[in-house]
Parts: sequence; structure tokens; C-alpha cells
Amino acid sequence: MITIVGAGITGLVTAAYLKKSGFSVQLFDSREQAGGNIRSFQKGRYLLELGPNSLVLNDELYNFLEEWGLDDHILQADPKAKFRFILKKGKYRKLPTGPISLLTSRTLSFKAKGALIKERNLPPQFVNGDSIDAFFRKRLGDEWTDYVVYPFISGVFAGDPRQLLIEKAFPRILKLEEEHSSLIRGMMANRKSQNHRGTISFSGGIQQMTNRLGHYLRNELFLDHPLLAIREGKDKKWGLQFKQKEIETDWLVLCIPSYQAGRLIREFYSETSIALNQVEYPPVSMVYSAYKRKAVKHKLNGFGALHNHKEKSFALGSIFNSSVFPDRCPEDEVLLTTFVGGAMYPERAKLENEELCIKVNEELSKLLGIREKPVMQHVQRWPRAIPQYTEGFLASDEQKSSLEDKGIFLSGNWTGGISVPDSIKSGQELAKKLMSLKDLPGR
Ligand SMILES: Cc1cc2nc3c(=O)[nH]c(=O)nc-3n(C[C@H](O)[C@H](O)[C@H](O)COP(=O)(O)OP(=O)(O)OC[C@H]3O[C@@H](n4cnc5c(N)ncnc54)[C@H](O)[C@@H]3O)c2cc1C
Repeated sequence: MITIVGAGITGLVTAAYLKKSGFSVQLFDSREQAGGNIRSFQKGRYLLELGPNSLVLNDELYNFLEEWGLDDHILQADPKAKFRFILKKGKYRKLPTGPISLLTSRTLSFKAKGALIKERNLPPQFVNGDSIDAFFRKRLGDEWTDYVVYPFISGVFAGDPRQLLIEKAFPRILKLEEEHSSLIRGMMANRKSQNHRGTISFSGGIQQMTNRLGHYLRNELFLDHPLLAIREGKDKKWGLQFKQKEIETDWLVLCIPSYQAGRLIREFYSETSIALNQVEYPPVSMVYSAYKRKAVKHKLNGFGALHNHKEKSFALGSIFNSSVFPDRCPEDEVLLTTFVGGAMYPERAKLENEELCIKVNEELSKLLGIREKPVMQHVQRWPRAIPQYTEGFLASDEQKSSLEDKGIFLSGNWTGGISVPDSIKSGQELAKKLMSLKDLPGR
């Protein structure tokens, strides 16, 4: 029997592939619903994504969705979602989306445009240990780094580019430099090689995907089962103490946050436990705001707007949900999700709900020209949101496979990339690995 703890997307995918291949699995989660961070919440007439908002489609993700019968339910983002805004000199400005709009765009200076042309002929710049900040300043200069890279990192990691390691956080970007000697050339080549791309969700929200896997695993899935402790069992088995019962298992797969796994193995493997506890998960609070459409001056004609550290804004940025996917709110309203906190401003995420709502409304009103109060606001807190691939992550990265000969496997968004598609891939790879170790003894 293989026991998997953690029914987020990583654990669900691992369990589903093992079951599909005839393995005997059981999957436990402390929450009352499968999906982990993926939570689509219907609040009256508003569909709120409390965790991930959308997925970036690529061929691998498409194949996965097709395999699990989800391809017919894909909801493509509205074409205008390809536009992104950044905050510069106190105003939202559209980022160029291609070479022609770049030439005519006034968002970036001539110098920044020149840096892009120069980048194509630069020799490799990566030096071991480079942060995202250091790497991009060398390749693209200050303006791109401050006004494009910083906001992008806020949107993906809610992280600090001076701390995140390029090699661990974006290995694919480094590969572009390695293989094409230029990020720009590499990106263009990659775009051409993908049949499926764009931003997607599902009509019922992203949770539709995890619900599908949860339904497939309905006989193997035990919800509301927090794993409290692990003990050494008989015959090289592991004893698992859940809130309700104790069981024994040959193989144990932990698809839970690193700090949770670190706590559970502390008694047996202190070195690995210490390493796992070093991964930082800064807090993020999300504020959802709906306004009457007629009260908003800005056209909201894009995916959203992101801020950087130079503009002294309160929030990290906002997604224009009702522009990206239809039917997320009443037709005469707009719905926005604003992110607050992250690695650079953790204290802000901890403000009281009321203050968060007031500050977000003030900033949105100023930047988007909103003349009326919101008709709905809602706060979702993530006290430990997204693992940061910083210096502290290195030890856990080294240790993540160290317990496999004892029959304990570790996976999740802190092992192979933080996005949902990355986590799906981690789950697929782990299932494959386990299948290939079919005869592995308990420990
Ligand atoms: C606010 C936010 C916004 C995001 N936005 C995006 C986005 O737009 N696009 C994107 O691609 N990605 C996004 N991500 C990242 C993505 O959601 C996650 O990286 C991914 O869902 C992680 O999946 P996981 O299965 O590895 O972990 P989790 O989803 O964290 O699942 C772990 C599971 O383990 C369970 N668990 C923990 N401890 C125990 C225990 N002791 N016993 C039993 N069960 C336990 C938890 O209940 C949970 O269900 C976002 C993340 C956050 C937090």
C-alpha cells in the first residue's frame, strides 16, 4: 500500500496516476475538500479564486487535461487578457506585446528598447548564485529589471527578486540563455514550438480540475484527516497517526508544504527536517473588490496591473478578473483581485481585514479612476503562501530525495516549480518514479 498525505494538486496527480496503473493507494488530507491551494469559491454572484487565478497553458498541460477529460471544459482567457499594465510614474501603462508595439510604445524608454536589441548579442551572463535581480540587470539593464521583472516576480512568487535564485526559480529562463545565447531569441523560438498556449481556467473555476481528480479517487480519498505524527512501525513499515485513526504503510509520500513535512519527520531525520524548515513562505492577503462598471473610468482592457518597488504603492498589483474570464460577477459590475504583502512587504499582509479593504479601495480608486464605493469586498489570507526559491531553499532542494531509501518520498510546489502546471508535472514524475521502484521494500 502506498499512502499519500496532501491532496493538493501534487498529491492528487500522484495518486491518480498510481491508481490508473493498478497500484493500491490511499490519499489523506487535513482539509474537508481536495485541491489544497486551489479553491474556487462562489460568493453569491461572484466566483472568487481564493488561490491560483489562472493557468498558463502549454502542450504538457493540455495533454494532461485531455487525458483526464478536462480539455472540453477549458475556458480560454479573453483575447484582451494578453495585455498587461505596469505602474510607472504613478500611472498604469500598457506593456508592449510584440516587436511593433514595442517600437511605438511610450511605456519604455529608447534606452530600454536599445537594451533589448543589445541582449540578442550578449555572451552568457549567468554566474552561480545569481539572484533574479542580478541576472536581469546584466542581461537587460535597470529599466526592464525594475519595471518589468520586479512586477512579474510579484505576480508569480510574491517574492523579492534580490533574494530569489534565478537558477532555482526560473531554470527555463537560464536554459534560454544556455541554448539560444539570448532570452529574446529563445522566447521567440519557444513560442513557435508550442501548439497550445494562453491563459486558461474552467467554467467552474480552477477547482473543477481538482474536483475531477478527487472524484476519480473518491474511494481512496480521506478528507478531514490531518496527519499528526509518524512513528516507526513493525516490519519496516511506517505508522501514521491521523486525528481519527492510526495506520501502517510500506511507502509514505508527503505532498505537503516543506515546513509540515519537516515537522513530521523531525524525530527521525533531524538534518532533513532542519533543511525543510528553512524554506520561506511569506504571507499574502488577497482582497476581492467588485464595483459598478459605470463607476470605473479605466477600461480594464487587460489581464491586470502589477506594481514595482519604486512606485511606493500599497499592493503588489491586481488581476482584472471580469476582463479575463466572463461570468465571474454580474454583467454591470467588474471584479478585481488585489494582492498585498509577499516577501517584500510581509507586514502589510497582516493588517486587519477592514484596513486592508480600505487601503486597497483607496489605491484602486486612484489608479483606475473609480468614483463609487465597492459593492462587494472579500479578504482571503494566506499566512504562508508561496515557497521562495531563495538561499534557504537550497538545503531542502538537496535533501528532498534523501529519505527515499527509507520509503519516504517528498514532493510539492517546493520541489519542482511553484505553478500549478509545475506541480502537475512534479506529481506525474513522482508517480513514474514510484512505479519504477515497484519492488522497493518498505524501508
Ligand atoms: C495565493 C496564491 C496564488 C497563486 N496563484 C497561482 C496562479 O495564478 N497560477 C498558478 O499556476 N499557480 C498559482 N499559485 C501556486 C499554486 O497554487 C501552488 O503552488 C499549487 O497549487 C501547490 O500545490 P501542492 O499540491 O504542491 O500544495 P498545496 O496546494 O499546498 O497542497 C498541500 C495539501 O497538503 C495538506 N496538508 C498539509 N499538511 C497536512 C497534514 N499534516 N496532514 C494532512 N494533510 C496535510 C493541505 O491541506 C493541502 O491540501 C498560487 C498560490 C497561492 C497561495
